[in-house]
Amino acid sequence: MTATDDSRKKAGEPQCAAMPEDWQRALAVVAHPDDLEYGVAAAVAEWTARGKEVVYLLATRGEAGIDTMDPAEAARVREAEERASAAVVGVTQVEFLDHRDGVIEEGVALRRDIAGAVRRHRPDLVVTINHRETWGSAPGSPWNTPDHRAVGRATLDAVGDAGNRWIFTEQLRAEGLEPWDGVRWVAVAASPAVTHAVPVGPEAAAQGLASLREHRAYITALTGEDPEAYVRSIVEGGLDMYAPRFAGRRCVAFELHPC
Ligand SMILES: [Zn+2]
Repeated sequence: MTATDDSRKKAGEPQCAAMPEDWQRALAVVAHPDDLEYGVAAAVAEWTARGKEVVYLLATRGEAGIDTMDPAEAARVREAEERASAAVVGVTQVEFLDHRDGVIEEGVALRRDIAGAVRRHRPDLVVTINHRETWGSAPGSPWNTPDHRAVGRATLDAVGDAGNRWIFTEQLRAEGLEPWDGVRWVAVAASPAVTHAVPVGPEAAAQGLASLREHRAYITALTGEDPEAYVRSIVEGGLDMYAPRFAGRRCVAFELHPC
């Protein structure tokens, strides 16, 4: 996952509002191990430090993410890295839906799986990843990946499904779940159209760095850079990106959709 310079906002652009704080449970739904660690993890660290509960739900195990590693082995390695990354920011529940990495299909099957998780975990806030076609807002911005688009869009849709007892009725009959219409917002990370931000202090920033650092095998395979320099440039660059639009404060920014 990458953000780009063209998504860096100038101080003259609209200011981000502070993210709502009056909630207790969040469910973060993304495509791959590492998607949350490229920026959201520092916000998660702030949230869990204040006693909020956050659960991670990953559509895949990222098995197609390491060119030099067989997918079965990559799935095992990357699941372990994701669980370690989550633990660093106070998240102990990490679930995997086992859709296929790289070829996730946006559709009813994915919506069903995500709606089921929303019904099980009953979150106030759902977090997901950029569902838009590009990373930046400027014409010619780098293209987003199909997995991110599919998971982001399916998550926004599944939040509505979860509240309707006549959609995915088998979950109610066979799994004993109840509809859940208590999601108050969906926050989209790495969006080119941010509206809100979570301020990040030094402690949570350090946890955000440590969280991405846990993806050792993935980062080593991904970049020829020194892994520590790479992790710092990604996480610190991300925290600085929207500071000009948040009264100069380091932050994680989201596009927030009220439900
Ligand atoms: Zn990804």
